[in-house]
Amino acid sequence: MTTKTTTHEFQSETKKLLDIVIHSLYTERDVFIRELISNAADALEKFRHESITANDVFDAHVPLEINISLDDKKHTLTITDTGIGMSRHELEANLGTIAHSGSNTFLSQLAEAAKKDVNLIGQFGVGFYAAFMAGSRVLVQSRSWDGSEGHEWASDGAGTFTITEMPGLHRGTRIIVELKEDAHDYAQKWKVESIIKQYSAFVPFPIKLEGETVNTVQALWTRNKSEITDQEYTDFYKFVGNAIDEPMYRLHFSADAPLAINALLFVPKENLEIFGFGRMDSGVNLYCQRILIDQHSENILPEWLRFLKGVVDSEDLPLNISRQALQDNALVGKLRRVITKKFLKFLEEEAARDAESYLTFWKTFGIFLKEGVTSSYEHQKDLGKLLRFESSKSEAGKPVGLADYLLRMSPDQQEIYFINGPSRAAIEAGPYVEMFRKKDVEIIYTMEPIDDFVLNHLGEFEGKKLVSADRADLTIPGAEEEKKGAEGQDAGLDSTATEGLVAWMKTVLADIVQDVIVSKRLVDAPAMIVNPDGHMTSSMQRVLAASRFEKGLGMETMKKNLEINVRNPLIVRLAELRQADEEFAVDVARQIYDNAMIQAGLIVDPLVMVERNYKILNRAVRD
Ligand code: ADP
Ligand code: MG
Repeated sequence: MTTKTTTHEFQSETKKLLDIVIHSLYTERDVFIRELISNAADALEKFRHESITANDVFDAHVPLEINISLDDKKHTLTITDTGIGMSRHELEANLGTIAHSGSNTFLSQLAEAAKKDVNLIGQFGVGFYAAFMAGSRVLVQSRSWDGSEGHEWASDGAGTFTITEMPGLHRGTRIIVELKEDAHDYAQKWKVESIIKQYSAFVPFPIKLEGETVNTVQALWTRNKSEITDQEYTDFYKFVGNAIDEPMYRLHFSADAPLAINALLFVPKENLEIFGFGRMDSGVNLYCQRILIDQHSENILPEWLRFLKGVVDSEDLPLNISRQALQDNALVGKLRRVITKKFLKFLEEEAARDAESYLTFWKTFGIFLKEGVTSSYEHQKDLGKLLRFESSKSEAGKPVGLADYLLRMSPDQQEIYFINGPSRAAIEAGPYVEMFRKKDVEIIYTMEPIDDFVLNHLGEFEGKKLVSADRADLTIPGAEEEKKGAEGQDAGLDSTATEGLVAWMKTVLADIVQDVIVSKRLVDAPAMIVNPDGHMTSSMQRVLAASRFEKGLGMETMKKNLEINVRNPLIVRLAELRQADEEFAVDVARQIYDNAMIQAGLIVDPLVMVERNYKILNRAVRD
């Protein structure tokens, strides 16, 4: 008989990863056992699921379990599962590349993070390679459930691996870790047993160590809430979430009607996406009668809840449903709606129960809820209650809910106001909030680029329209009387002078503005930019312009209205100046426009602006 051996190079990302694993990770090596057990359990789950639908499986009689044996003389740890196994091609593909996107930035971040926190290795789906933390050489013998001939994969992690035919194997995978000199401990039973108890207690298959079962197979989520301890919940979270932290929130609920559901959901402590680790995979597994049918299911919750970890089990699902069929299964859609609603309700209750903790949640995961508002129309109302923003009446750094805003609102106010800006200080120094401050009307500060899109999608809250304060047609309660009452008192332009100035400005700014209007709202500032299209705030236009720019589409922007304050001395003087020195007056008018654009966070042409500005300064120092 000839045995054919082929040699393969690891993919370059894998090489880098192996380098990190072998040279940078000395602490917390224990997790390699957890990673190998978790792969074995995955393989068993996959086999169990396939065997329900397939009528012909190889080695059908062998029990589903994980066996671990130790050799203290040869210094090896061997872990065997009777799961789905791997064909030659699968050995090459699965154990030669990184399962998930292995970009270079990801790897360099991993290298940094891994020095501090070894757990990340597992969270990013590169778990198998952890075997090289303890092993100087690793052998993987595997035979697929389709019965095709088995193979052995072997490597010392240094750049290449070999694959050799190996007849006579049973279904499943055996991994032999030849322990490094300083890792001989892992051939000690007490050591391995304590690691299994710590990390793998919830694996739903028997784990036998030297022939003795060391875990208790149970589905925690099907047990009665009152019988489960906090410790058990936390351990389970660490198990399903592949995590080392404690969960921030946990929701365990069961329902019988309209659907039979058992769900156990956790909110982690950290948001890995904001650390720059790229888009997370969904973290909730879908079970039917305790059998895993879709791991990290993308169907059971909307995408914007991908930060949740846990389990959903429903007896109503057909056991033999294929993964593709899950996507447009009506029942799965129904489950998704019910569970999402339930989770949002839970958050609302938590926010009422302990506002402080909810703010911690909001600061970490609020971005996902905002994503939800823009993508899930059916949950918008519930999500609206969960949003938090700073406002003119909130403390800095202590965002408030829209419901709080409603409580403080005067009875004659019909709308909820908001304005975008880069920071609290920038907004408060700008022209948009002047009249709000004067009239003591609360205004929400949206400080993230996405916020105006979110509020625009939301449209209204409890029947009150959400309105951006940079709208042209805005009416602030009380501001109208203010204007009337003030007439004749403040020195300002009279109506003839005003009409003349407005008409003149319209002509000289015709190429850049849609209209020039006498402001009813400005208190101190000379002018401000407002948007004739009420749905497009300046912030939204800035975001869209940036994306147009990225795509090389140029800078086409919509023309805006310029509101002027005819009681402001600069505007008063401008009316005189246009008679005395029109050329200079045009420069001043254009500079006022540019300044207002900058205060609106919009782009002006810096070359033109700076040149004009110097011209004006020159004249100012001369006078
Ligand atoms: P992940 O488990 O996140 O996919 P790993 O690096 O742990 O990443 O494993 C890579 C892949 O190798 C797995 O997705 C699986 O396809 C395959 N694999 C690893 N261990 C086994 C095993 N014991 N049985 C079958 N396939 C396995
Ligand atoms: Mg794994």
